[in-house]
Amino acid sequence: MSERVESEGFYEMVWDCDHCGTKGLLGKSQRHCAQCGAPQNPDKRYFPTPEQQTKVAGHSYEGSDRYCPACKAPMGAKANNCAQCGSPLDGAREVRGVEAPIVTKRRRRIWPWVVAAIVLLVFAIWWFFIRTSSAQMTVVAHRWESTIPIEQFGDHPQSAWHDQMPAGAQAPVCHRKQRTTKQIEDGEECHTERHDKKDGTFEQLKKCKTKYRSEPVLDDWCDFTIRSWFKVDEAKMSGTGLTVVWATAGVPTLMPREMQPGDLTPNLGTRRQGARSQKLTIEFANSTCDVDAATWRKYADGQKVKLEVRARSGDVVCSSL
Ligand SMILES: [Zn+2]
Ligand SMILES: [Zn+2]
Repeated sequence: MSERVESEGFYEMVWDCDHCGTKGLLGKSQRHCAQCGAPQNPDKRYFPTPEQQTKVAGHSYEGSDRYCPACKAPMGAKANNCAQCGSPLDGAREVRGVEAPIVTKRRRRIWPWVVAAIVLLVFAIWWFFIRTSSAQMTVVAHRWESTIPIEQFGDHPQSAWHDQMPAGAQAPVCHRKQRTTKQIEDGEECHTERHDKKDGTFEQLKKCKTKYRSEPVLDDWCDFTIRSWFKVDEAKMSGTGLTVVWATAGVPTLMPREMQPGDLTPNLGTRRQGARSQKLTIEFANSTCDVDAATWRKYADGQKVKLEVRARSGDVVCSSL
């Protein structure tokens, strides 16, 4: 989000006379006290109240004033000699100016503690959960679980945004529904800042940021049916040992590869097997590992296996099988 900065012009800083106590003298146009004639002390400049500020019409900013090295009177940036005492202004220092108020909140240094806590946490996680050591474990059992999804051809209900409906969607019924939100510009949030230009004036800046509000974006959400294969059931088997058994009871004999796209359209209600999957597990005394078929068959029941375990919990690191 960008900020828009607009100058509202230059205004007189004000100062108080050290000598006679006159207050509210103008920083730019009153280089001497109107009361007693004493020169302006630039260190005594301050911002006027917003109601009392005096605009400097047609001000062209030339740079910060400098202290006369001899008498300390403030001289314009372009002056070569002090108008007060005649001293040359070579090497004269810039006036101090009113600093923007510094928030001197004593903040305790918290980041070393945060870093220490993170390091400790990382170490603790490593110590308890990651650190491993070598061990010998006995394979207690082999377990398997087989799943055959059962799919049926028919008209199945589905829902989607109108522009994302699949080809072949039938009898769509749509209604308006919020899909996203969009951000809409909603005016500006502004504040003014005053910057001491150190030449007896300050510049007033108006800084504005665009505000936004979110608004719902509606679209058509459609319910429809689509004629295709859908999973309606699954047949699971599980057991121990090295022979995976696949369910047959209630499982259609038609296999998915026998009904490729482009085949004759099956009758409505036809059932077939979906893609089969199996979960193979090696069981140790205190932990189990789900593994691929090759790893599963590599070890026999009762075999002692050299592998990595978590040093703390003794759980087998399955990737070391
Ligand atoms: Zn005075
Ligand atoms: Zn001087």
